[in-house]
Amino acid sequence: MSPLPTPDLDRTSLFLDIDGTLLDIAATPHAVLVPTQLIEDLGQLRERCGGALALVSGRTLEDIDRLFAPLKLPAAGAHGTQVRPDPQAPIGHLTRPIPAELRAQFTALADRPGMFIEDKEVTLALHYRLLEDPTLPADRVATVEAAAAKCGFSLLHGKKVLELKPMGTDKGAALRTFMTKPPFLGRTPLFAGDDVTDGYAFSVLGGLDGIGISVGQSFPGAAYRVETPGELRRWLHGLLEPRAAVDR
Ligand SMILES: [Mg+2]
Repeated sequence: MSPLPTPDLDRTSLFLDIDGTLLDIAATPHAVLVPTQLIEDLGQLRERCGGALALVSGRTLEDIDRLFAPLKLPAAGAHGTQVRPDPQAPIGHLTRPIPAELRAQFTALADRPGMFIEDKEVTLALHYRLLEDPTLPADRVATVEAAAAKCGFSLLHGKKVLELKPMGTDKGAALRTFMTKPPFLGRTPLFAGDDVTDGYAFSVLGGLDGIGISVGQSFPGAAYRVETPGELRRWLHGLLEPRAAVDR
């Protein structure tokens, strides 16, 4: 694996996943810790990129704003279901409600202690990280998946999380949308992510001459890799240090 890149921030659009990429994974989504230094660094990086820095997450935009307050960044929430290039713009929902019957079917999958449903309204997430044997019954999941497809929804298999979301929205589509709009337009996209759900974003980078950095496991489309979110945070912090003339 190559050493990490030193992108020219004047020509780069930074896209960053949150959980497992910027932040260490916690037992539950609410238990994550956001280092103060990271909030400061993201604010400065956004300025250095001419505003072209966006968070791309499975979390909702409301949740992202809460985590990084007082910083409000361009972001895509709920796996591309919500896209907000302008952080001052109201939060847009590009989706319709999950049908009640499908919602009930999906929720019924959480039938063991250690499983819980996170209701993000636009999507539903089934977390099973806390199970002793963290696997799901494939046959029941397949039944729900078929029911979801009939209503225009799909299941997204993440890291110990299964998510019910509208079909056709994902992190890759969100990244493409950002890249059509200033200040992202015309810059080189750089995306960092850690999960199979980030594979959609890694896969669109090739067509955009982008740069991919994976955290933990390797992904097609990510030429670079770091081991941990801490390592990625240190790399981001390092980008703010004045660069030697020889680098330019
Ligand atoms: Mg992640």
